[in-house]
Amino acid sequence: MVVGVHRPTQLVIDRAALRHNIHAEVERLDEGCELFMVVKANGYGHGAIQVAQAAKDAGATGFCVAILDEALELRAAGFNEPILVLGVTSPADAPLMAAERISTTVAATDWLSDAQAYLALAEPTAEPLHVHLGLDTGMGRIGFRTVDELATAIDFLGQHKSTLDFEGIFTHFSTADSPDDHYFKQQVAKWHTLTDNLPHRPRYVHVSNSATSLWHAACNDNMVRFGVSGYGLNPSGTAIEVPYALQPALSLTSELVFTKKIAAGDSVGYGATYTADQAEWVGTVPIGYADGYERRLQGFHVLVDGQACEIIGRVCMDQLMVRLPHDYSRGTTVTLVGQDHGAEITLQDVADYCGTIHYEIACGFTGRLPRRYLN
Ligand SMILES: *Cc1c(COP(=O)(O)O)cnc(C)c1O
Repeated sequence: MVVGVHRPTQLVIDRAALRHNIHAEVERLDEGCELFMVVKANGYGHGAIQVAQAAKDAGATGFCVAILDEALELRAAGFNEPILVLGVTSPADAPLMAAERISTTVAATDWLSDAQAYLALAEPTAEPLHVHLGLDTGMGRIGFRTVDELATAIDFLGQHKSTLDFEGIFTHFSTADSPDDHYFKQQVAKWHTLTDNLPHRPRYVHVSNSATSLWHAACNDNMVRFGVSGYGLNPSGTAIEVPYALQPALSLTSELVFTKKIAAGDSVGYGATYTADQAEWVGTVPIGYADGYERRLQGFHVLVDGQACEIIGRVCMDQLMVRLPHDYSRGTTVTLVGQDHGAEITLQDVADYCGTIHYEIACGFTGRLPRRYLN
């Protein structure tokens, strides 16, 4: 996708904020517990490579991604740390993952036997394929669900040590970000049922996303998969307080490219869904839903020189219009996410208006927006 470098609309990512958040968590972890930064989906929209570097500088010792290509991007950029793919990969890619020392999540024993067949045919690699067994303790997404299934997989790994290395075991909680810990406790109990009698503990034993590490740190074991809070976002939205001050790393800014005065009765935008009651100034901002700034944000607001201004008319694909309190000059700063003159719009505010969570807004920003890095 073309990147709009000649348009004054950009994501601004503060690397100092990333380092602050990640370092604060590293400091809270028990001795011997490592932090792997989760940089899937282009680092939650912030830029995977830049986030990985900031995380490494702040004390992260490994990375998690969702898909193999994201892991390969990190390797190509020169990161030599452990990288775990959290999703299900193709067994046909087992030789590639072994060669690149990329650890993979395994959720079924037949995956292991298929991968073993591919590995047996491929050029031998310096290291075996590093495997993390995923356990489904109640998320209902991927993973082993019974002691017997798990025992079969561990047995298979034990029989193929030269090609398959049992490097990790983990689960994922579905309600760690909720004040109600009823279901969380059920998942913890299931985790214990599945893992208390393991024949041997692998190198990495991990259960914690951001929410678990922040609010249930006793569960952490020896690694955490730290994601959203590294970016400065509260995983619970506003439901639970975070034990240290998070600094949101992402801002979204633009400029007024055009202003005009409209008369009472004039309409604005597709469908003419907004009609002015009186004469008013209108500004046009060059961003739209093709950038991930959603169409349903009509009626929300942006900051024009720090002043909240309502978005009037539908958000177009590439432009949107706002009502101004008076005329402003072309080039006046527009803040869609972030702070200006003491006023602030958070990703949480945008998400609330859209009826979703900040995760979805952050990773919805498209490749057309340039990412500029501070600090
Ligand atoms: C995305 C993901 C994480 C990170 O979650 P956050 O809520 O962003 O901290 C951790 N573990 C797994 C399995 C994930 O899919």
